[in-house]
Order: sequence, then structure tokens, then C-alpha cells
Amino acid sequence: MKKNRRQLDLEPGDLLRARKLAERIVSEAKREFGVERAALYLLNPNFGNLEMEASLGVAVSVQKKRLAPGQGLAGWVASRGISARADLQKSNLGLGSGGSEMAAPLSEGENLIGVLVVGTRKKNFFPEGREEDLQKMADEAARWLSLAWKVAGTSEESRRSAALAEVGAAIGAEETPEAILNRVAREAARLSGAKLASIFLLDVKKEKLSLEVCLGGSADYRQQPPIEVAESALGYVVRRGRPISVRDVRLSPQDLHTDRILREGLVSVLVVPLVEKTEGIGVLCVATAETRRFPDAEIRLLEGLAGLAAAALGRSRLSGRLDRTEEELRNRERLSSLGMLAAEVAHEVRNPLAVIRMLWHTALRGLQPSEAQARDLNLIESKLAQMNGILDRVLNLARSADPEIGPVDGTDLIEEVGLLVRSKLSASRIRLAKKVPLRGRAVLRGDRPQLEQAVLNLVLNAVEAMPEGGELKLGVQARGGSVFLSVQDSGQGMPREIADRLFEPFLSRRPGGTGLGMALVRRTVEAHGGSLRVDSKPGKGTQVEIRLPAWGAPRA
Ligand code: ADP
Ligand code: MG
Repeated sequence: MKKNRRQLDLEPGDLLRARKLAERIVSEAKREFGVERAALYLLNPNFGNLEMEASLGVAVSVQKKRLAPGQGLAGWVASRGISARADLQKSNLGLGSGGSEMAAPLSEGENLIGVLVVGTRKKNFFPEGREEDLQKMADEAARWLSLAWKVAGTSEESRRSAALAEVGAAIGAEETPEAILNRVAREAARLSGAKLASIFLLDVKKEKLSLEVCLGGSADYRQQPPIEVAESALGYVVRRGRPISVRDVRLSPQDLHTDRILREGLVSVLVVPLVEKTEGIGVLCVATAETRRFPDAEIRLLEGLAGLAAAALGRSRLSGRLDRTEEELRNRERLSSLGMLAAEVAHEVRNPLAVIRMLWHTALRGLQPSEAQARDLNLIESKLAQMNGILDRVLNLARSADPEIGPVDGTDLIEEVGLLVRSKLSASRIRLAKKVPLRGRAVLRGDRPQLEQAVLNLVLNAVEAMPEGGELKLGVQARGGSVFLSVQDSGQGMPREIADRLFEPFLSRRPGGTGLGMALVRRTVEAHGGSLRVDSKPGKGTQVEIRLPAWGAPRA
């Protein structure tokens, strides 16, 4: 074949590296047209704009500039699909700031794939009709490029099916959701040569994406707080169920996540959705240190991986649910037999208690206690009444534990719980801090003894969480028709799996624990039409907040 029959002097080997090919095309164009500047733009299908893939003699600021269709000579050519020639004005968005330029579109069938541009600082440099030669070169370049992508695609395709089969089998063998996600991240990193691979999962309310798995990220990346779906491109991926690839995060609009990627020193990012059935449940993200384009085949490969992950997650979550209900049933059974046991015990205890109360009143008669003694005596008396009340309730399980509603002063209640536990606290070297309003300011609708018991349960858990001592904060606050009682410790906290299931009966992580404390708290609070919130950080501490309707507030 005669050399001058074709304008591009390329070799089959160039087909194996599309990036290299782009550079060859640019250098051929520069040589052929005798200019100082040449560039090849490729269309980014994600954003519909032109990005410079390769260039010679072009300032870095121009290389980084993306062109929207219609913008500058290259954009104009891209939107019309025909070649053009122009003298540049200052504001023209050309390769340089003056002189003349030509541009020609690269198309694959009907589709635009890019634009080839050559330019010089000399004015009126290109004779009329010269742009047709550029178009010929662009046509040839387009054929080479699409051939190169096909070659890459085919080898990618076979690599993809082999990898998917292999990974599918591996994922099938993993048992826990964590192991599955880890495996997927590892394979994704390996297949795309990424330095970082991470998986974010959507929370139940579909508002935030939390980092679940991260390979190759710094501590800063690994410890990032959940990302609001609305605040990041990650959210777009999960909402739309469509991947996004960014060739260079330095050039793309920044958000919370790309900022982090930048700080990791990484530049190219691909994010694909984890879709379970038809619903987005998270994203898989890979990022590389070198600038690179993620070809379609690779995007599909990672989508396939993410799909496997989502399916496997769904399956394990389902079996988790089955296990859970079975466990709940077993627990309920234990609870009902425990209920019977409790009724028996209550019956046994009730009679001696009646005797104690009677003798108590007899003993008090004629006594002249000091003020402090009187306070303690009153406390004992009310505790005796409370015990009696508990026994009544146990015995009346049929009528269940309907609270006897009355006005309860939150400040009073907290003060009393503080009084009850003061010696236990000082023995455990725990400092007590109270934040309560004046009496009468935070009055709620409730059953005083029941609520006191609930708060006491929380306080005892808090004490147990601080074996080395610490600080216990008790608080009351009236806010918007509700009263909030809070118990906060500076103890060991608990992992999320425990926090999520904290109120299930028999969940206990203490030797000798019954796991009934929190279950009772929940029952009481729910019977009051209130709600509970737990905020726990392992190593930092736990806060439990009870919301109850204020006395006077309209009933729900
Ligand atoms: P129990 O006290 O019998 O263990 P609970 O229902 O009171 O049962 O609590 C269940 C478990 O929840 C506890 O064993 C403990 O692991 C965890 N827990 C509860 N409160 C706290 C807290 N304030 N800090 C850390 N862990 C807690
Ligand atoms: Mg407890």
C-alpha cells in the first residue's frame, strides 16, 4: 500500500492502546498541516461535552477546559457535524489565543465521537478547502479509534466474562454480607487497576450513603461520615441507577466525595450503582492514581460485579430476616414462660411485702426523724409502694401493664433517680451531672413509678458501661409538646449491630445480664405513646433519650 494513500501513519500495534493512538493521531495532524498546535477532543457520553484526550503545543489551562456542544470552534464543529476553518478572536476558546484554526468531527456511523483540531498563531494560514483534508484525516482517525476500542472491548469482554464467572463463584462462597462486599471491592480494584475501591450503602430512609467497605483508602477516607444523597454525585448514581465516570476529578465539579478522592491523590473515578431487583441500594466506587478513561466494557464489568454484590446482599439479608423472626419467636416463648415464673414469684413476694409495709407504718409511729432521715424514710415508703405496684402489674399481666396516667414532673423524677443511685455512683467513681429545668417546667403525661423504673434501667446500664468510672449526665427538657428525658454515659458504647437491636428481649452482652432491661424500657415508653432514641459511639459513650407527651399537650 502506498504510504501517501492514507494520511495517518499508524501501526496495528497502536490499536492495542487507544490512548497512545490518540497521541499518534495528534502528532500526525500537527506534522501534516505544518502547525504548532493540534489536539484531539473526545466526547464524554456521561456529560455530553468534549474533553481533550491528547494535544501538542497547547497550554495546560486549555487542555483542562471542557467544551460544551457549540462552544468554541471544536464545539461548533461537534454540534454541526461538519468541518470548519476560522480566524480566532481572543474569546474564541481555541487551542491558542489568536491566529487561525481548523476543526473536523470524528464520527462512528451516526455518532459523534470527538473532534480533531489544528491551529497556528499565524492569521489566515489555512487556504480555502484545506478543512476537507482535515476531515479526511479525522475520518481515518475515527476508524482507527473505533477499531482500537473494539479490540479493547473484545479482549475486555472475554476478560469480563471470565472475571465475572470467577468472582460470581467466589461471592457465592462468602457467607456474611461483610465478606461479600469485601470480596467485591477487592475484585473491582484488581480488575480496574484501581488504588481505591469502596462501597457505600444507602440507609433505610434513603437519605444517606454510608461507607461500608474500603480498600486502599487513608484513615481520613475510611472514617468519612455518611454522605447526604443530595450532596454528591454518588447520590445521583444510586437514584438514577446509572454509572458515572470521571476522567479527571480535578477538572470536574467538586462535591463531598470527589473532594475526598482528590485528597487521596487520585484522579480518575468510576462509580456504579448496586441495584437489588429494581432498587438502588448503594454504589461501588473505584479510583485510580493515573488519569484514565473507563471504557464501556469496563463500566459494564463493574456493573456486573455490583449486581452480584447486590443480589448476594439481598439474599443474605433475607436469610438474616428469617433467622431473626425465628429467634424472636423463641424469645417470646421464653418470655411467656418467664411471665408465668414471674407471676409465681410475685405471688410469693407479695405477702411478705404486705407484712413489711404494715410493720413499717407501725414502726414510724411516734418517731421524730431529722430532715435528712425523714427524706430517706419517705423514699423507703414510696419504694415499698412501688414494689407493690410492680407486683400488682406482674399479677395483672392479663390486663397488661397499662400505665396509670397522671402529671409527672420530669425534674422530680430525675432528681429521685439521682438520689437512688448516688451511693452506687460514688462507689463506681462516676460523676453525676444533671441538667434539669425548675420544677413545674417539664411536666409529662405518665405513670410515675413505671417511668422511674425505665430511667433507672437506663442508668444501671450506663453505670455498667463505665467500669473504670466516668460521667453520667441526666437531663430533662420540655420542647414542642414533648418532654425529653435523657441518660448519657461516657462509657464503652456499643457497635451498631447491638444498638439497632438494643430493645429486643434477651439481648445481653454482660455476663449475668438478662437482656430484659431495655425491652422493658421500650414497653413502658410505647405504652405511654412516647418514643426512644439511642446514640452510641464505641469507645465514646451512649445517650438514650426518651420522648414523652407533655402534660397539657393535645393527645396523639
Ligand atoms: P442487660 O442489662 O441485662 O444486659 P439490657 O437490656 O439492659 O440487658 O441491655 C442489653 C445490652 O445492651 C447490655 O448487655 C449491653 O451490652 C448493651 N447496653 C445497654 N445499655 C448500654 C450502655 N449505656 N452502654 C453500653 N452498652 C449498653
Ligand atoms: Mg440492663
